[in-house]
Amino acid sequence: MQNFELEKSIYVKTSSIHGSGIFTPTQIPAGSAILQISGEIISGNECERREEEENNVYIFWNGDDCYIDTAETNKIKYINHKCDYNCDVVETNNNRLLLVAARDILRDEELTIDYGYEEIYSGCSCQNCDNKN
Ligand SMILES: [Zn+2]
Repeated sequence: MQNFELEKSIYVKTSSIHGSGIFTPTQIPAGSAILQISGEIISGNECERREEEENNVYIFWNGDDCYIDTAETNKIKYINHKCDYNCDVVETNNNRLLLVAARDILRDEELTIDYGYEEIYSGCSCQNCDNKN
């Protein structure tokens, strides 16, 4: 297994997007693996139940039937959505997801991903979404 130096350096602070966010203290070149998204592996049904019954869910989906609830983690759960995101979530092997830099990321920039569901775009007023309308 890889040892992610970057993962250790990522820090959490108040975000201008929403609540808390995760930030990098160093520049990250495009394509770098930043951290491994780990957590509790749950089924699709359990994912739906948590989304309905719990206020805050931090669930990642790898495209198949693998859902990872990161509520017990202390960094990745805080990643915010941005339509102009700078990170991708990449599937590596069984039940493992990696956060990878989608482009060069600047020092102290907030790390963001595209959450990729419809509701987030309809409620969004960023330039990307304004252009779509
Ligand atoms: Zn947007």
